[in-house]
Amino acid sequence: MIHAENIHKRFGAVAVLKGVSLQMRKGEVIAVIGPSGSGKSTFLRCLNHLETIDQGRIDIEGETMVTTSAEGACHYVPDAEVRRICRKMGMVFQQFNLFPHLTVLQNIIEAPITVKGMRREAIIPKAEELLRKVGLLEKRDSYPSRLSGGQKQRVAIARALAMEPDIMLFDEPTSALDPELTGEVLRTMRQLADEHMTMLVVTHEMAFAREVASRVVFMDHGEIIEARPAAEFFATPEHPRTRAFLENVL
Ligand code: ATP
Ligand code: MG
Repeated sequence: MIHAENIHKRFGAVAVLKGVSLQMRKGEVIAVIGPSGSGKSTFLRCLNHLETIDQGRIDIEGETMVTTSAEGACHYVPDAEVRRICRKMGMVFQQFNLFPHLTVLQNIIEAPITVKGMRREAIIPKAEELLRKVGLLEKRDSYPSRLSGGQKQRVAIARALAMEPDIMLFDEPTSALDPELTGEVLRTMRQLADEHMTMLVVTHEMAFAREVASRVVFMDHGEIIEARPAAEFFATPEHPRTRAFLENVL
């Protein structure tokens, strides 16, 4: 589904990703953990082209989005192709990013109508079904300002799902929430995982990583230090940096 190879990314003089490689299969749930500033968000943003990469290769579902020639020149496929490939991925951010001037329903149907050209009559029942799924059908006509953080995040998940992505990327979806609201968002994500959605989740929720993820990837200083099945990862972390990190967070 996702094949990222030797991704390099710099911001000015700072090398933020130093050769990150990851292969993700259909139906996998991968948790990405690591210290602040280790490059987790940047990696996710490179995968769906919110950032460009400086070197490396990214294939999404067998389609190449960007490659690097032997001479070291980085080539993206044409813009329209990049956009089409990136539409296979839905993204959920820490800060919800709902449109404040649109109702919950309008937030969900906006992109399917404007980007995919779907008809309102076709997308509205689907949006309602997604709202039911995340437990918020009764908030259909509310504005985001009237929702709790957990509710906003569940709307953001429904909105991403309305585009029918094959892969969902989550960047710390519960970090902006009060502790009592994280559970409802994690439940929604767990439900998606149970339905075999392919998910790449940057998270500080170690219980979620342990229980829901098939693999855990530990990043530090722009590199993947360790990537192993979740149970093994937590039972017998191999790298000293992984052990030091886990001792701090568990
Ligand atoms: P956190 O857990 O705090 O979210 P992270 O692992 O997601 O951290 P990134 O946000 O990917 O880390 O940032 C990695 C490094 O890149 C940091 O040093 C950050 O300051 C830097 N960085 C990120 N985005 C930019 C940008 N747009 N311009 C310059 N530097 C950036
Ligand atoms: Mg981040």
